[in-house]
Amino acid sequence: MPKITRRSKPAKRRGKGPARTLGKNRGPARSARKVSKKSSKKSSKQTVAKPQRTRGVGKKQKPWTSAEIHEAFSRFRNANPEPKGELEHLNPFTLLVAVVLSAQATDAGVNRATRTLFQVADTPQKMLALGEEKLRDYIKTIGLYRNKAKNVIALSEKLISEFGGEVPRTRAEIESLPGAGRKTANVVLNMAFGEHTLAVDTHVFRVANRTGLAPGKTPLEVELGLERVVPVEFMLHAHHWLILHGRYTCLARKPRCEVCLINDLCRWPEKTV
Ligand code: SF4
Repeated sequence: MPKITRRSKPAKRRGKGPARTLGKNRGPARSARKVSKKSSKKSSKQTVAKPQRTRGVGKKQKPWTSAEIHEAFSRFRNANPEPKGELEHLNPFTLLVAVVLSAQATDAGVNRATRTLFQVADTPQKMLALGEEKLRDYIKTIGLYRNKAKNVIALSEKLISEFGGEVPRTRAEIESLPGAGRKTANVVLNMAFGEHTLAVDTHVFRVANRTGLAPGKTPLEVELGLERVVPVEFMLHAHHWLILHGRYTCLARKPRCEVCLINDLCRWPEKTV
């Protein structure tokens, strides 16, 4: 590695290198410099990790204290004591189907399709009786609907053949169903069975990283980080509070920091308050 050969370069560039071009975004620049120190002999050019900065991943933020985390979730709870998911469903099976259909689609779009679908197929048996072709007609407004229709029929078959027609209650079993991954399993376990799981979607991932609550480079890293820091009393609803916060306040392009409930606690260097 260029460890030895570049020993003197960072000092030479200090004060005029790319870090300064970041202007007001002083947090990421500091973070980049820290990385630079650790790997000490890399050139300053190498230390500016733009994609990480944009996503808010990899920053060295001051960790939240337990009191701050408790305070943040208390505010979420006071504002919305019983947060609800926005995917419409009638039972664990229809919830499972709705979550599988929601991959790369909006909840509103899924709801528009499932409102009529679930009137005719709210069990695995009825879904099989409906058949893949007719199912496609119901969900054709949803992205990737052909593949999703295939998965919903296949998971219905598997539920009947291996789980007595019921949605199983363990993560591994749910993950074994066609079209269902860890996030699906976490949503179903939380919403249908009241488990303390934390599904990490794009909103939760962004909020956890921006705020510094549970930074991580992958959804799994964020999920495990949140599980470590969120107090048990908030675990049941933490997933929904964070999703709703990301969807309506901490927006991807223009976060509404001025009306944010936790703007004094948030660690994001680019927050606007
Ligand atoms: S202060 Fe801004 S960036 Fe921080 S959580 Fe609130 S909306 Fe998001």
